Amino acid sequence: MTTMTSACNYDLSSLIDVINPGPLYRSAIEEVAESVCPVIESNKAYQQARVFERLLIPDRVIRFRVEWVNDAGGVEVNFGWRIEHTNVLGPYKGGLRFHPSVTEDTLHFLAYEQCFKNALTGQPIGGGKGGSNFNPKGKSDNEVMRFCQAFMRELQRHIGPSVDVPAGDIGVGGREIGYLYGQYMKITKQRDGVMTGKPLGLGGLLGRTEATGYGTVTFAEEMLKHNGDSIDGKRVMISGSGNVALYAAELAMEKGAHVVTMSDSGGSISFEKGMTSEQLVELIEYKEVQRGRLANWKGEGMSYHPEARPWSLVDADVALPCATQHEVEKDDAAALVDRGVKVVAEGANMPCTHQARSVFHYKGIVFGPGKAANAGGVATSCFEMSQNASHSTWTKEQSLDKLTGVMVDIHEQCVSNAPMVNGVVDYGTGADRGGFIKLADAIVAMGV
Ligand code: NDP
Repeated sequence: MTTMTSACNYDLSSLIDVINPGPLYRSAIEEVAESVCPVIESNKAYQQARVFERLLIPDRVIRFRVEWVNDAGGVEVNFGWRIEHTNVLGPYKGGLRFHPSVTEDTLHFLAYEQCFKNALTGQPIGGGKGGSNFNPKGKSDNEVMRFCQAFMRELQRHIGPSVDVPAGDIGVGGREIGYLYGQYMKITKQRDGVMTGKPLGLGGLLGRTEATGYGTVTFAEEMLKHNGDSIDGKRVMISGSGNVALYAAELAMEKGAHVVTMSDSGGSISFEKGMTSEQLVELIEYKEVQRGRLANWKGEGMSYHPEARPWSLVDADVALPCATQHEVEKDDAAALVDRGVKVVAEGANMPCTHQARSVFHYKGIVFGPGKAANAGGVATSCFEMSQNASHSTWTKEQSLDKLTGVMVDIHEQCVSNAPMVNGVVDYGTGADRGGFIKLADAIVAMGV
């Protein structure tokens, strides 16, 4: 925090010590502090209202025990969390993550990032995040259902359509949302759309499944267009093979790009000439329905690389990290540069470490941060809230057209708030400033 402290003439250290952020949350705060420092310095109202400091501590952190019974009749216990970071722009909004690596630090960092992302969409949504250290992998369908029901027994008392509207994230897809929302409906008698990413029969929105991946590709395309280029014919490396990655691949290929890698936590696959559309259809079914591992998936013209990340495997023009946080470290960033990548857009939340981002800046690689590049998911979730509140049914075209509009607008906001670094737009700073100004103006207006 020294940059912020000295450049902005503030003493934040005592407050930082009080909140004592974990490493992920600290790195998120530091990124934002560096970006928004000049904005705060030039605005007396922000300084007087101490908007930056007030945004560091969430409105509340809800932590609870989740107890459930496994198929063998044994009792299992997990942590559950919901971090309601700020509702200054609208109801708390952000996903639930079920993964054994989830800690309160992970969720603090994700909730903080979510506030900026949601502000950038221009929609009336605040920021939050939640989840559990439950591991859905290897669990039966019934075990996942019993866990989701137990999780919702606690969570239901804290959420509501104008209070807090959770969605999915890693380990929480349509199946889990269905079980969670089903239990919410049983307990509360409400079918009020309190969750987004719902299966269609439960009030879900056509296009929500595709939205995050599609939005990331649209953002990357806008970055390319801004430099007089296009995505058509580009070689695109993607990591992950979950919701974001699969639909990023789908739209990239529709736009004429060649998808040359995908991955999961076991390893990566590479395609010298690019995946075919038949292979992608097969992979979506294999991952979404069969829940298979890439290690066991066979395809023509494809190689499997156990325990490898995609970044050094093949030459490419564009990289879309769509798996998880900190999956692109300094050496990976250098490998991407060596492989010819010129544009990186984050489909996942903070997949690139601070050091990796520095490599991109130094080398003049155009970098789109997750806050902006993956905001299509939450933007479309907000359409789902509108659909449910108005008791209507949107078409897929309606959702996806509006999604494109939101992504183009976010791109413009980033450009208009960004400095140039090494001859390229500094989208990271642009996104932080664009989101921060909206949050800060609302905090000032709200008083203390
Ligand atoms: P999924 O659970 O559907 O997919 C996650 C993918 O990442 C899987 O292929 C998974 O492999 C892989 N993965 C997870 N952890 C690791 C790891 N430690 N190392 C390597 N690979 C890993 O999640 P989503 O696609 O929904 O989310 C992906 C990212 O996008 C997350 O950062 C999420 O926060 C972000 N995001 C998601 C949004 C959404 O709408 N879904 C919206 C905005 C951001 P495996 O199956 O082997 O675990």
